[in-house]
Amino acid sequence: MDRTIPLFNRIAARYPLLDVVTPDAHDARRVVADAAKRAGLGLLAPRFGRRPVVDAGCDAIAELLAQQGRHLVIIPAGQHLLGDATFVQLLTESLPDIERHGHCVVLLSAVRRACPQLDRERVVLELGLPSDAELRELVTAALTGDDGVGPSVPVVQQCLQAARGMTRSQLRRALRRLRLGRDKLDEGDIAALHAEKRDLIAHGGVLEVASWAPTLEDIGGMDTLKSWLGRRRRALGEEARTFGLPAPRGLLLVGVQGCGKSLFAKATAQSLGLPLLRFDLGRLFTRDSAPEENLRNALAIAGAMAPVVLWVDEIDKAFAGAAAGSDVTARIFGTFLTWLAEHPDGVFVAATANRVDHLPAELMRKGRFDETFFVDLPDTQVREEILAIHLRRSGRDPERFDLEGLAKAAKRLTGAELEQAVVEALAVAFEERRGLLDADLERALGETVPFVETYEEQVKALREWARRRARSAGQDRSLRDLFVEAQGGGEAWRP
Ligand code: ATP
Repeated sequence: MDRTIPLFNRIAARYPLLDVVTPDAHDARRVVADAAKRAGLGLLAPRFGRRPVVDAGCDAIAELLAQQGRHLVIIPAGQHLLGDATFVQLLTESLPDIERHGHCVVLLSAVRRACPQLDRERVVLELGLPSDAELRELVTAALTGDDGVGPSVPVVQQCLQAARGMTRSQLRRALRRLRLGRDKLDEGDIAALHAEKRDLIAHGGVLEVASWAPTLEDIGGMDTLKSWLGRRRRALGEEARTFGLPAPRGLLLVGVQGCGKSLFAKATAQSLGLPLLRFDLGRLFTRDSAPEENLRNALAIAGAMAPVVLWVDEIDKAFAGAAAGSDVTARIFGTFLTWLAEHPDGVFVAATANRVDHLPAELMRKGRFDETFFVDLPDTQVREEILAIHLRRSGRDPERFDLEGLAKAAKRLTGAELEQAVVEALAVAFEERRGLLDADLERALGETVPFVETYEEQVKALREWARRRARSAGQDRSLRDLFVEAQGGGEAWRP
């Protein structure tokens, strides 16, 4: 839908006070001015310059009331003015006159600000990021030379994909920079546009566009989860929508630390063929940040970049912080939970959690995620697979090692510990200037103190929790392992 319609409708219907929340004030001015013109209102758009904001805001109201005929005034810095008693008082008193004359006050705010005194009069509108149609117009113009020859459809599509998630001003600046000294952009600029977006998004500190993601082949085990994801991939297409299948929403991975949850969340993007966005919820609350604004922007970017995988790492830590935090923190997480339930089609959320004691019940409610999976310690066969993956990554042929024996000896180790042991063994072989031997791996694995030994209670609690609330990510091989154990070769410890 055209994002300007709700705004135009309110202006045309003579609403006296609109609060437009936007990440791009320049863009919002343009959109509001255009809507005012279409609705037949004269425009006042004072620039505040270095004047104190409250004085300038009050003067703007006075100027509006002095106009003949219907006018609209655009007042910037709404989030500051709505917190100022003088301005709020003046505006409250002036609103009946403003409405009687058919005028309209449009505040431009960077963040939504509560203002109980004006809440009955004010309509808050989120302008959001530009639509595909708007972006296409800008991109096509930049790709068209003075000779009027336009770009091919695939090139426009790729540029559009790179531009999604930028504000209009950001995109205009980026296109201007790339076009410096040239007649037009071409296919070769698409990567630069992607890079510019990656930098802009990273600058916000909360989101990060990943330039590389592992594949499912980089992950040992998790067979049930892998086939589940395969089904989701098929459910992504238009054909599934026509069939009546709702769009996949995402998954929550809960489990033992270092067993590949984050790895799987990242590989989801590769498997679904979508870009990967990492959302660091914990960084919403870093010093000097404006958490509400950051959250709103991050969610808007994710929505604009759809279809996309949004990887929310360690969601439990963020909620632990929220539980101990203030009302503001609780409100912000409330917003996030609501978004999780209602988020736009095309954003596939892959969230991970190590601990369950801080996960709010609302997070687990049906509809937030398609499924919750539990990722346990790897069993013998999965340990073999993980060792093979990391040996292959180091350029070794796994076939040349006694993987079965090594995996049996590596009881209770996590994937991260297995990886670390391979690195240790390589370091020893390198130091002694010889090839890697089974004995190096055996020693390194033997010297690793399993993480679970220190966190036994925590792991037990996690398994207990998962028994009732989650599906197992891996195949259940417990019967097979029990049999091997009876023969003296299996796991010494089990839940
Ligand atoms: P944490 O909660 O501590 O982040 P996690 O469960 O998300 O742990 P990862 O960060 O995905 O674990 O794992 C750390 C590293 O260990 C991975 O980057 C990978 O190299 C290795 N690893 C863990 N599990 C596996 C696995 N199943 N297959 C291959 N490698 C693995």
